[in-house]
Amino acid sequence: MNVLMCLVVEHDLRLVALAAFVIVSGGWVAVGLVRRASERTGTMRAGWMGLAAIAAGASIWCTHFIAMLAYLVRAPFIFDPSLTVLSLLVAVAGSAAGISVALNRAGGLLVPLGGAILGGTIAAMHYVGMLGYRVDGFVDWQIGYVAASVAIGAVLCTLSMRQLVERPGKYSHVISVALFVAAVVGMHFTGMAAYTVTPMVSGAPVADAASHTVLAIAIAGVSSVIAATGIISFIIDTTASQEMVQRLLQLATSDALTGLPNRIRFAEHVDAQIAVSKSKNLQLAVIGIDLDRFKDINDLHGHAAGDAVLKTLSGRLRGMLKDGEFVARIGGDEFAAAKSFAHKSELIGFLDRLKEALFTPVAFEGGDATTGASCGVSIYPSDGETGARLVANADLAMYRAKADVTRVVCFYEPKMDETARYRNALGLELRKAVELNQFELHYQVQANVASGQISGYEVLLRWRHPERGMVSPADFIPVAEETGAILAIDEWVLRNACREAASWPVPHRIAVNLSAVQVTQLDLPRKVHEILLETGMSPSRLELELTESSIIMDKDRTLHVLRQLKALGVTIAMDDFGTGYSSLSTLRAFPFDKIKLDRSFMGEVEHDPQAKAVVRAVLTLGRSLQVPVLAEGVETAEQLAILREEGCDEAQGYLLGRPRPVGQICLTAQQSGDGDLFPSRAETSVRHGLRAVG
Ligand code: C2E
Ligand code: CA
Ligand code: CA
Repeated sequence: MNVLMCLVVEHDLRLVALAAFVIVSGGWVAVGLVRRASERTGTMRAGWMGLAAIAAGASIWCTHFIAMLAYLVRAPFIFDPSLTVLSLLVAVAGSAAGISVALNRAGGLLVPLGGAILGGTIAAMHYVGMLGYRVDGFVDWQIGYVAASVAIGAVLCTLSMRQLVERPGKYSHVISVALFVAAVVGMHFTGMAAYTVTPMVSGAPVADAASHTVLAIAIAGVSSVIAATGIISFIIDTTASQEMVQRLLQLATSDALTGLPNRIRFAEHVDAQIAVSKSKNLQLAVIGIDLDRFKDINDLHGHAAGDAVLKTLSGRLRGMLKDGEFVARIGGDEFAAAKSFAHKSELIGFLDRLKEALFTPVAFEGGDATTGASCGVSIYPSDGETGARLVANADLAMYRAKADVTRVVCFYEPKMDETARYRNALGLELRKAVELNQFELHYQVQANVASGQISGYEVLLRWRHPERGMVSPADFIPVAEETGAILAIDEWVLRNACREAASWPVPHRIAVNLSAVQVTQLDLPRKVHEILLETGMSPSRLELELTESSIIMDKDRTLHVLRQLKALGVTIAMDDFGTGYSSLSTLRAFPFDKIKLDRSFMGEVEHDPQAKAVVRAVLTLGRSLQVPVLAEGVETAEQLAILREEGCDEAQGYLLGRPRPVGQICLTAQQSGDGDLFPSRAETSVRHGLRAVG
């Protein structure tokens, strides 16, 4: 064997170094691709596996043949082209098989099995390649080395694959590459130790020059494939992750419908602008914007129209921006804007542009509409030093603008804080008020205009607060609605009013107010039914009052609830008619039992012909729909006279009686039973009021 071995002259060290370089860099690329494949799913996974197989197979193949060129044998030799090409196919196909088995989702033993297949592939490629290596001499194979070479390749590849797939970590990649390189190198040199050749003719190493060149070109070609897979993977990876980052960033910071920046982005912008304003000695305005009539568009024309309006408005807002101005959509129909400025006139100019954008009618399929908006402005540094404070104060100012129909824009004032604090404190106390028994009920008489007969009593809630004294429902009902406390409160009112009225000797009807929140509760009919049974109150004596705006909020749902309530035998009155939407469609959509004309018309009916015309129109409407009309807020005999003249059915107001606790309204059986229309002295005003015109 010694004799035979010394026939092999030596290795060309430069080519050995090249082979080492190819296997290390190729291994690095291939392992990286296997890792990427293991992190993906679906087609991406398959794609990365394919690239990994090409890179692994090509590096194994190139390394082998460069090493073969480095192997200097003193005998003429050629490479058989078809077997050489076949060996490349074996390398790539075997790598693909090994990698796909190792990355099988079932995992477990498949990982080492895949590694072993890859190791076997190195050996298979090697020996197919050697079959194509034709030397002019006697070739001898030592089977022990052959077996050892296959084992070394398989074991080291198995370790490499397990390292990569099962023990991901900081150095996993390096270790895996090192094991793979060791597998290829170990396999190759052990395999070459198994191979001895005794030349027929001795002399200098000879090679078929042509076959040599073709092989060199092939190797160069295949190596560039490895390089290409590496570069492709790098490009795909970075662009994919850049795109991903861009997309995520875009998703996280902008509003999907309008493409405007969202709340998060707005907060970031304000924070950044505060820093800029501080350093440049500028002011920064934060503007909260809430559309006024967006809900109507959604309710009347559907969500598609609503979306179209939002898009148009967003486009306009974006289009009017100048340097240093920013607009975001921060909620359903809420927007926010920011502008840094040196002089207030710049801010005023910006606000004018905002108003123009928001108050120009918007066309959508099926019509056009003006949403209008309420804006609140807070200014850095005077109204707040932090973004959060500025946004909160702009909101407070916006609520003020919303509450005041005459103002579109409100600037923040410190006293708004106090109002907000007061409301917050009230909200907390309201939650406890029911338990602490701080509520009481007052009753206000309602009478028939023609006969003067009492037709019923409206139940009005009173809150006797230990420190604040009597708090008006006009103050606390909106707060209770905001905080959700209203549900418990309304239920309390209903239960107690029914209990009280059920015990009256005269079966007068009572009218109980329902809040907008309450009438969308699907279990309201069940609750009312329970309370009626529990208190023994006759359903025909109970009237429920609700305002038109509470129906508009969620029309279908509310109408469904109302129908069920009516089925219980209770009657339903529309409260405050004439103030809200007053659309005929609401009156047509549901058979109300009464229309309550808002008290704001009474104040002017004596002097203002227009108010009188409205009253007349509502009465005509009531007659045509066959729904009785009750006029609220009747304070003078003149008002009552007009109502009688116009044929109004019922009246309610201070003239007929103020709201009073139950003890002060007289309810005795015989007074009512003998047909006396004015049963108590407490209600003498009824008598006076009606007599005055009668
Ligand atoms: P509303 O339902 O329109 O009730 C009539 C309001 O007008 C009552 O005010 C009543 O005191 C007042 N009023 C009656 N006659 C006259 C008059 O001749 N002139 C004037 N200027 N005002 C008159 P109140 O009691 O302060 O209630 C205010 C609002 O609070 C009510 O308006 C109603 O919307 C709500 N509210 C009252 N009690 C309840 C309740 O138990 N539940 C719910 N959800 N809301 C209630
Ligand atoms: Ca009412
Ligand atoms: Ca009313």
